[in-house]
Amino acid sequence: MAWGPYPPQFAPQRRDTIKQLINHDFDHQRRGLRRTSWAFQGRFAFRFLFRFRSVKNCETIVPRSRLNDLNVVGIKTSRLELMKQQKAKQKLGFCHYRKRDHRFCKEEAGPSNLCYWHDPDQAKDNPKVKEWLEGWAKLGRSMEGFALSRADLDGLHLLGHGGCDARDADLNHASLKGAHLFHINLDGANLFKADLGQANLNNAVLSGTDLLRANLSEAKLDHVKWGSKFKQDQRIKQANKAGKPEEVRQIREELEEVYRHLKQVHEQNGHFLMAGQFSHREMVVRRKLMPLFSVQRFTSKLVDLISGYSEKPSRVVLSSMAVIFMCAVVYFFTDVQGAQGHIGYTPGLSLSQWVERLGDCIYFSVVTFTTLGYGDMTPRGWAKAVAATEAFGGAFGMSLFVVTFAKRMTR
Ligand SMILES: [Zn+2]
Repeated sequence: MAWGPYPPQFAPQRRDTIKQLINHDFDHQRRGLRRTSWAFQGRFAFRFLFRFRSVKNCETIVPRSRLNDLNVVGIKTSRLELMKQQKAKQKLGFCHYRKRDHRFCKEEAGPSNLCYWHDPDQAKDNPKVKEWLEGWAKLGRSMEGFALSRADLDGLHLLGHGGCDARDADLNHASLKGAHLFHINLDGANLFKADLGQANLNNAVLSGTDLLRANLSEAKLDHVKWGSKFKQDQRIKQANKAGKPEEVRQIREELEEVYRHLKQVHEQNGHFLMAGQFSHREMVVRRKLMPLFSVQRFTSKLVDLISGYSEKPSRVVLSSMAVIFMCAVVYFFTDVQGAQGHIGYTPGLSLSQWVERLGDCIYFSVVTFTTLGYGDMTPRGWAKAVAATEAFGGAFGMSLFVVTFAKRMTR
């Protein structure tokens, strides 16, 4: 077998591992197997040179030809598996729950490899659970991912430094009536059917939560960070990816219910601005439940664009401005007569004339939109139809602005 020389950049002290590789090949030759390919050797050399630490973790070097026999996809996977096994060995006897920062929980584990707090099979019916949790919060320790489903935590008083961290906690069906949860971080928590009646959730983080059928009546919700997405949004994304339209529809119906409840709660509490926001989100979800190419859905989208379902006066102003500008452009290219004749486009205009005439057109458009009609300029031909439509749209737009603005102010 002819062996090519190894590339000169290999330092002598690194030859040991190269020898290992050669021995491996000889071993294969002895057993009548194909020698390690040059491609594999090159790849190995690259890893060896630039990622020495990761190669060190590799207990055995597996040639590419044998990867299929060992049922591993590639050397990277096998190395990862090895590292995982090593970590698991080190962690024997400790909780296997991995937090968002990729660190493991430091509590002692039971037979399920999870600690008391992270094991969903351990019932939290001990009367001291509330006391333990309060002590935990006082020490400022994280409650991330705690499984507290169906726990009776009425009147729980969590007083952590800068708010308690309870991200991804499972609190479904938990009773938290009148609980003091000021500044708590419940990002990604499961609050399905949780009872949070009269709870103090001021300054809490509730983004990414599942709030389906959760009771929030009379709860204090000042300065709550709701985020732009709830748990249902993630599930919709997953179901969409998996191609399950029925499931998507079902989750959207759930989301609509969540928004409706939040709107009602905020209205009861006098937080009308938030109530308006949730009302808008509810309408958007309702629109997405309509058939894709239907008049109903198109109209709904148009109403959203123009006025944000009469919740956003700024959208009325912006859409009015857009209409005024578009009509001005139309007037520029059609026939509108001013005191000095035609005010639109004529060939051979200088830049200053362009600006002046476009300004005249915008002026005419504003006068038409607001139905002022001074009469100093008159449309002709097709411009008449555009002006009539714009005047009608203007009257409609202004009354819409009044309604939207008044609705927001007088709530
Ligand atoms: Zn744990």
